[in-house]
Amino acid sequence: MTTEDFSGFGLAEPLISALQKAKFTEPTPIQQQAIPAQLEGRDILGVAQTGTGKTAAFGLPILHHILGMQGRATPGCCRALVLAPTRELAVQIKDNFRVFADGAPVSTALILGGVARSGQVRAVKRGVDVIIATPGRLIDLMDDGVVHLDETRFVVLDEADRMLDMGFVQPVRKIVAALHPKRQSALFSATMPPEVRSLAESFLKDPLRVEVAPQATVIPKIEQRAELLDGPAKRGRLRDILNGEGVERTIVFARTKRGADRLGQNLVRDGIPAEVIHGNKMQNARQKALGKFRQGIVKTLVATDIVARGIDVPGITHVINYDLPDEAENYVHRIGRTGRNGAEGVAITLCAKDELPKLRAVEKIIGTELIPRVAGEPTKAKPRKRPGRPQRSAQPGAGRKPKQAAGDAPPKRNRRRRKPARPSAQAR
Ligand code: ADP
Ligand code: MG
Repeated sequence: MTTEDFSGFGLAEPLISALQKAKFTEPTPIQQQAIPAQLEGRDILGVAQTGTGKTAAFGLPILHHILGMQGRATPGCCRALVLAPTRELAVQIKDNFRVFADGAPVSTALILGGVARSGQVRAVKRGVDVIIATPGRLIDLMDDGVVHLDETRFVVLDEADRMLDMGFVQPVRKIVAALHPKRQSALFSATMPPEVRSLAESFLKDPLRVEVAPQATVIPKIEQRAELLDGPAKRGRLRDILNGEGVERTIVFARTKRGADRLGQNLVRDGIPAEVIHGNKMQNARQKALGKFRQGIVKTLVATDIVARGIDVPGITHVINYDLPDEAENYVHRIGRTGRNGAEGVAITLCAKDELPKLRAVEKIIGTELIPRVAGEPTKAKPRKRPGRPQRSAQPGAGRKPKQAAGDAPPKRNRRRRKPARPSAQAR
């Protein structure tokens, strides 16, 4: 079925007018496929990168179903549950639901760690239509008998690969086991590693598989550059870049939380107002930092990979990788914060010599050489420990010790004369 605009789906009237208000005129490919199938009651397995419009793809059918239901949610229960890996994503999904349900009688509640439980407990006790949650706090409230999922008929696991990466396998399985057996489920994931596939198999019933490539119009609009420099030179270079013309809203990615803190302090010392966001900050500090950035009160946000995915702030002109990511795929997620909705964006990576192996790993993924090969460059990245599983209620990343803070001087190494690049085979 092809539908030119949202009115062809037969969505409830309040949703249609909210979409018009939000200037959603044409459904994205994943919405085209996933919305009608879910309206008919089918499960969905969505394989799609960020920026493809997944939130509306699962949000609109859920809201449509809820608007068609009689009465109110049972106290202590919710009619729909959306699980997201990070608090920021959960907040963003809730904001999206508020926009889609604009003015319609649908109640939503956020359940996430790092903030007081009392407000969440109160909201759930009354009964709520949609809970948007991160796994840890939800499990806490389930264990304490505050939340019951046995009446939950609509469930979404958003960014499932990320959720499992963060060690939420057990919590997610436990939550899934508590749900009503007759439910409609959707699972979205950017990648399909075996663990996600196995979760999908047990979680979904005869799902429609919806797969979309990242929108081709968006990707080429990100101009990617990398610079090879000595670690200690990064600070000055970053300052120059941020003071450059046309550099407006910018996210600077650091590898570790401590590194991000230090970078933020250095920027402020260098006369560049910046906010810092990472997993060890209190939730309200995280929201405040993101809020100031979103509103343009500060134009520089220093972040760890916790915001590499899914966070949608319009008008980000630049993404700067102050450190290379440990996981090469995160590069793609990081730079995807810019160039959104067809806007143009620039991604600049500052690469110290000892980070070259990580850069090469990134180049393999993107299929482009960012820095010509240098003679005698290290070929292997240092092995990296797998992150431990979080405690039951631990938030992602909390309590992990950084190995070496970004911004620390890199180990001294022999200077070698740089040879002209050998024309390397373009990575596939
Ligand atoms: P994903 O979850 O796949 O990363 P989002 O749901 O966050 O993507 O959507 C990405 C951006 O695109 C958001 O700013 C959202 O408001 C916008 N968007 C999504 N669908 C549409 C649409 N049909 N028309 C216009 N904008 C859209
Ligand atoms: Mg999303």
